Amino acid sequence: MSLDNLRDLYQQVILERYKKPRNRGLTDPIHHQQKGHNPSCGDTIELTLKMDQAGDRIEEVKFEGEGCAISMASVDLMADALKGKTEAEALEMVEEFQSMMRGETEFPKELRKLNVMQGVAQFPVRIKCANLGWHTLKAAFELASDAQPADDFVSNESQ
Ligand code: ZN
Repeated sequence: MSLDNLRDLYQQVILERYKKPRNRGLTDPIHHQQKGHNPSCGDTIELTLKMDQAGDRIEEVKFEGEGCAISMASVDLMADALKGKTEAEALEMVEEFQSMMRGETEFPKELRKLNVMQGVAQFPVRIKCANLGWHTLKAAFELASDAQPADDFVSNESQ
């Protein structure tokens, strides 16, 4: 497959996800909740997570929000990929995603859908859009124990 075809395929997946997201909404109940904002593009999301009964694994991830196709598709793909992961595994995936966007690594075969976002890495202003969901996920776990008001947005502007 030529590079151009591959790029078209990536765009197709992104647009499809944008138009028909699979993980829109709020989880019930909500165990983790975090809002995220990408000021450079205007994307905003609200991420909610439901953990399993033991509280160890992510059972469901949902999002609300408005933004460009890349930010929305990225968070929707992320939500799929996080099902069944522990907090530690999820945080490791945040690192992997950010390293992939720097062109340093790829996701393993079972998570290869996430590699779609690699096509975005060649447009530096769009990287923040692709990172927004992951950045917000990290904050959802890390801020969970703090007395952080739930309506505070984390911004990825400092990335
Ligand atoms: Zn954006």
